[in-house]
Amino acid sequence: MYAIPHRDKLSASTVQFLERQPGRLFIAGQWQPSASGKTLVKDDPATGKPFYEAFIGDAEDVDRAVRHARAIFDDLHHPWRRMTPLERERLLHALADRIEADKQTLAELITLENGKPLSAARGEVTSTVNMFRYYAGWPTKIEGDVKPVSIPDRLNYTLREPVGVVGAIIPWNFPLSMIAWKLAPALAAGNVVILKPAEQTPVTAIRFCELVQEAGLPAGVVQLINGYGETAGAALTAHPGVDKIAFTGSTEVGKIILRASAGNVKRVSLELGGKSPHIIFDDADLARAIPTAAYAIFGNAGQSCNAGSRLFVHRRVYEEVVQGVAQRARLIKVGPGFAPESEMGPLVSAEQFERVTRYVQRGIEQGARVRVGGERPAYLPEGYFLAPTIFEAVHDDMDIMREEIFGPVLGVTPFESLEEVAARANDTQYGLAAGIWTRDISRAHRLAAMLRAGTVWINCYSQFDPASPFGGYKQSGFGREMGHEVLEHYTEVKSVWVGLAS
Ligand code: ADP
Ligand code: MG
Repeated sequence: MYAIPHRDKLSASTVQFLERQPGRLFIAGQWQPSASGKTLVKDDPATGKPFYEAFIGDAEDVDRAVRHARAIFDDLHHPWRRMTPLERERLLHALADRIEADKQTLAELITLENGKPLSAARGEVTSTVNMFRYYAGWPTKIEGDVKPVSIPDRLNYTLREPVGVVGAIIPWNFPLSMIAWKLAPALAAGNVVILKPAEQTPVTAIRFCELVQEAGLPAGVVQLINGYGETAGAALTAHPGVDKIAFTGSTEVGKIILRASAGNVKRVSLELGGKSPHIIFDDADLARAIPTAAYAIFGNAGQSCNAGSRLFVHRRVYEEVVQGVAQRARLIKVGPGFAPESEMGPLVSAEQFERVTRYVQRGIEQGARVRVGGERPAYLPEGYFLAPTIFEAVHDDMDIMREEIFGPVLGVTPFESLEEVAARANDTQYGLAAGIWTRDISRAHRLAAMLRAGTVWINCYSQFDPASPFGGYKQSGFGREMGHEVLEHYTEVKSVWVGLAS
């Protein structure tokens, strides 16, 4: 058992939770060690010190979980399969209640393992509660319809049925929200779920599954296999007993998952990387655009798929905007997530810190100029902290302008015309999100239509709501999260024909 970091900042229930180590897998309603007995050790991003040990599963554990999930789903008499929509709604609300009641501990665990400021972690818990409440309303509203077929004496109607056994493979940047984005709609639609969190953030998921159990979901409807992508994730993706993989992560791994899931023609939805353009015109409300542009890239320390990492600024306001964003970047208080004044935490891991600082080096080598940041803040000698970083003198073909960095690194570049900026904004393999700032409504809507991105924010950025679909064009993936749209991916349509002739 490792020393608990930031112990004086943690609530008693968090400390109690952390004392139960190693964290276990949750298979068939039982908390159990991995078959191999292997564990991973999780470090604190703010200090680099190990603090938590968790069992990690591989193919054998995944196989056990999938068999159990199949046994539930394939048994039409199982309580989960017989459950009425109204009862499913009640359970999802009960789970939302538990999450809400456990807000402090969940937030502390998110901050401990991911590093983000506690206030942001609390926000993540709130949006998770909202997500479960929104989808708690859906079971009674997922409906088929009657089709106006032209064959006499035939009735044709559709049923929307759950897809079956869903493997949810998620990243570490929002350890709880990513669970909610997948599980809330999957459960609302009546599926059975196996959750494979990122190896960087195994802890919050364990707490979440304790709440699932307390909320009274039938044993095995949600199972948890912590573990590495290459082992546990790959086994889940290849398993013939899994009907669907819902994945959020890198484009690189998304492609691996597509290939690996071909064996039994799994349904796949992929929410992948981004290199989102944020575009500010000369008529924009700069008092709002400037802080939002900074937040769009430095929020969550840039570790968001929708980060506004390419900032295009109209030449006439270029210097004013860059100066304003740079000023913001300098003022952001970088520090441990448990320090109340911290606005930006460390990066999640040593690996991620290396990766992002390599990009900063490459930017410099390729001729971009650091306007602010570029280094670890001098007053933070340990942990994975990087100062908010802004590059100028960038070219669209530099690596820092083409590849997803997933860190607090912004490239800023001037533009002259709408046609020019639309073409440059679209000149990317990604198509997740985009931002536009202008007071000219026809220009705003014209550009929104021209951008090949799954979400466009006009005079705002990073807005999310359970009712609004989110997902990618191009290599940012396919399928949508949230809204009624996501329910398409967690249901099959069955067309039923009835002969009416007597
Ligand atoms: P990152 O680059 O930030 O680690 P990844 O795309 O590698 O993002 O990880 C996102 C999720 O995908 C994690 O849960 C990870 O364990 C999982 N993963 C990584 N590689 C594979 C793989 N080959 N098969 C299935 N899942 C994987
Ligand atoms: Mg990875």
